[in-house]
Amino acid sequence: MKGFDVVIIGGGLSGSSTALNLAKKGYSVLIIEKEKNQDFKPCAGGMASSMKKFLPLEIKDAIESKIKNVEFRWKDSDNVIADLTGESPFWIIKREKFDKLLTDESLRNGVQILKPVLVEKITKKNDNWEITCNNKKKYISEFLVIADGSQSKWAGYFKLGPRKPKFANTISLRLNGLGKIPKDAVRFEFGFIKYGFAWAFPLKESLNIGLGTFINNSPLENQTINNQIIRSFGFEEFPYKTINKKLRIWNGLHPINGDKILAVGDAASLCDPFLAEGIRPSLISSFYAAECIDQCISGEIDNLNLYTKNINNNWGRSMAWGRRIAQVFYRFPRTGYQLGVKRKTAPKRIAQILSGEMSYEDIAKRVIKRLLINS
Ligand SMILES: Cc1cc2nc3c(=O)[nH]c(=O)nc-3n(C[C@H](O)[C@H](O)[C@H](O)COP(=O)(O)OP(=O)(O)OC[C@H]3O[C@@H](n4cnc5c(N)ncnc54)[C@H](O)[C@@H]3O)c2cc1C
Repeated sequence: MKGFDVVIIGGGLSGSSTALNLAKKGYSVLIIEKEKNQDFKPCAGGMASSMKKFLPLEIKDAIESKIKNVEFRWKDSDNVIADLTGESPFWIIKREKFDKLLTDESLRNGVQILKPVLVEKITKKNDNWEITCNNKKKYISEFLVIADGSQSKWAGYFKLGPRKPKFANTISLRLNGLGKIPKDAVRFEFGFIKYGFAWAFPLKESLNIGLGTFINNSPLENQTINNQIIRSFGFEEFPYKTINKKLRIWNGLHPINGDKILAVGDAASLCDPFLAEGIRPSLISSFYAAECIDQCISGEIDNLNLYTKNINNNWGRSMAWGRRIAQVFYRFPRTGYQLGVKRKTAPKRIAQILSGEMSYEDIAKRVIKRLLINS
């Protein structure tokens, strides 16, 4: 039986970022990951460059595009373009490259990674976690991090995050070439998909396409509509393989820590319920997870409650507004498009949200202020 300061379940973006943050602080860390390798990650890779401050490593090799414009369409017309050439641009990263950089750097910093290994049982013994795996071995740690993503089994088991998680339905695919999408622009396509939208994010030589529905658990199986959307991005012939994934989205302010345990990333239900942004909260939660575990081990704080508090303050409060906006926008998308996207000041605000300069909370406060002044 081998002992570690921290065992992390799940070696995706949030699991390996947490591991690297902790290893850099000198802690012994084990990641237990169930998959051997994933050659295609269903993620469009859009990321605010302002997140640099939460990144535990240099990622320039994974950045495939730097975005200057955001194009919005309603049923392939009614164009709106937001200029993104501000202080902090929006990057498109190739997730497979990004995840590999993280894994390699974690290994270099002494993190141990077990894969493909499945956790079968977790118990607490003498104030330590005992983790039993399907390789017939047991591992012991003082702290446990749950990072097993949207299909998390362990977050619910330990009552971390919402009792009833909410999910967006998504379909994703990658096509060779960029179609009609410029190499420095992303496209958001509204109107075709009920209760959701489609997006096209350019990599160097291929296009990440995604379709998602965000409320009412609405399905995405209409092949005719899906083909129409893909054609609108400039592809006539498209032999493709799609991946369907249920993405766990933010659903209220809930504790995401317990006694010497916490959840990060999708497992903690942190993904933006309006735009499916999950990289940013994965990095923020990984950063604060490592900070709080460090403070706990060094005796500065008695428990991990500060972790939940930090995430709620730095992300959850904005997501509470994101969820309200999603519920109105996706129920009345035509009106939402006219008032929310086509409004004169909207492109600037959208750019500020995507670049991380503004939160949904800031936007909501502005709107409320405007209403009060005009009333
Ligand atoms: C179609 C789509 C497009 C997206 N596009 C964007 C985007 O453009 N920008 C953005 O910011 N976000 C995007 N997201 C969201 C983003 O991809 C996720 O929020 C992010 O990957 C979350 O990282 P994670 O480490 O928490 O989860 P994951 O990356 O899912 O990692 C979880 C890991 O845990 C492992 N695991 C699961 N169960 C177990 C277990 N029992 N034991 C051991 N290991 C386990 C899995 O194999 C996996 O490796 C998108 C999501 C989807 C579905």
